[in-house]
Order: sequence, then C-alpha cells, then structure tokens
Amino acid sequence: MRAMTRSSDHLLLASIHDVSPRFESELDALVDLLRAHVGDRIAMLVVPNHWGDAPILPGSSFASRVRNWSDSGCEIFLHGFFHRDETRHTNALDRLRGRFMTAGEGEFLGLSRNAASARIMEGRSLIEDVIGRPIDGFVAPAWLYGNGAREALAECHIPIAEDHTHVWSPASGRELAWGPVITWASRTRVRLASSLAAAAALRRAPLKVLRVGVHPPDIRHPALVRSIRKTLSAATRSRHPARYADLAA
Ligand SMILES: [Zn+2]
Repeated sequence: MRAMTRSSDHLLLASIHDVSPRFESELDALVDLLRAHVGDRIAMLVVPNHWGDAPILPGSSFASRVRNWSDSGCEIFLHGFFHRDETRHTNALDRLRGRFMTAGEGEFLGLSRNAASARIMEGRSLIEDVIGRPIDGFVAPAWLYGNGAREALAECHIPIAEDHTHVWSPASGRELAWGPVITWASRTRVRLASSLAAAAALRRAPLKVLRVGVHPPDIRHPALVRSIRKTLSAATRSRHPARYADLAA
C-alpha cells in the first residue's frame, strides 16, 4: 500500500493548556509526549497565577523553564490570569455555562471590557518579562469568552486567539481557521469515555487545520495517553505540525 502523502496545506496545531508551576511534573511528561510527534511545534498556554496560589515569579526556576520552552521554539500564549471564574454572571445562560460546563473555570466569560483588558495587560507583561519576547496570543480558560473579553483582545492587539471552533486574529479581525479542537476530559468516567470517542472520530476529519489540546491531568490516565499518542501519530501521517503564527503569515 502506498504511504499517504502529506498535503502541504493540511496542518496540525498542538497545544498544552494550564502551564503553571502547579503542574510541573505533568507538564514535563506532556512535553515529552508531544515532542515525539511534533517537535517544538507546541503552543504552551501559560497561566500567570493559577487559582491565585501558583504564581509564576520572575527569576524562579519555573520562569526559566517557560523561557527555555520559548527559546526552543514553542509558542507562548497567555491563558487567562487566575483560570478561575470569580465574577457574578448577570446573564442566566452565562451563569449556567460558567458553572456546569467548566467547573467554574470560565474566567473571561463575565469580565467587562476594562477588567478583561487590565488582566490581559498584566498577564502579558509578566509573561513577556519572563520570555523576553512578545506573547504569540491568548486563549481564554475553558475557551470561554464574553463580549467584554472579545473586545479587550482587539483593544490589546492580541495577534491570535482561539475558542472551541475557531482561531482568529483579534488584532486584524481575520478568521484564521475553523474546526472543533480535539481535547480530552477526565473529570468523570462518562466525560472520559466520550472524549476518547470524539478523538477517534475527529482525528481523521478532513479539516484543513486540526487542533489538539491537552491538559495536565490527561497524563494520569493511561487510556487518555494512548488516545493522545494515536491521535498525534494518525494526524502527522497526513499533516504538517505547524505553529499558530503560520496561520497568520
Ligand atoms: Zn485551561
């Protein structure tokens, strides 16, 4: 049988969420797992102070690891600030989405434009101090954005952002890619099983850009690790591992 040819315009984007000193050992294992398939084409989604008690301190050993990942070619995205939703949602639907879909982690769902801008600017300046270069973009925790957050991203000229179904440039207003992101969940058995089924179905989807996002707890579940490996090896047979910045080029 002939090997499948890689179509040059079919891309794979891989990301690691919740990059925080809280998950130091899980992150090492995830980086090793992804590197075997995509090299340094990894987007690291960094949380400046996960849940308010895991700050990334400039000069700390974790800060130098983030810098090393950046120096080795990984993209660095700001991923919220606290990763926790502490706002009171006035809208009933947002309240439900915030509480039940994300276990209260939709930090950027209920923020006003001003509050979202302030948090983005503070997080960006901290991370840019650490890596010594501009961040590549922003991804909201749980991929949840309120209107205030979307406006703030444009106001802050963030080059790239993504949600569950889209990648876009807040700075230019351009849509950069479309398609569901493959991700895994382990909070309950039902979610775990359905994420395995979704990954198996989506990894061969004929999308121009296939996105794969992993989280630190994934590494604790052998079935998820097998599914991540299978997904990456199936995807790299017909796709080029790429950077998010390649979409905007
Ligand atoms: Zn996250």
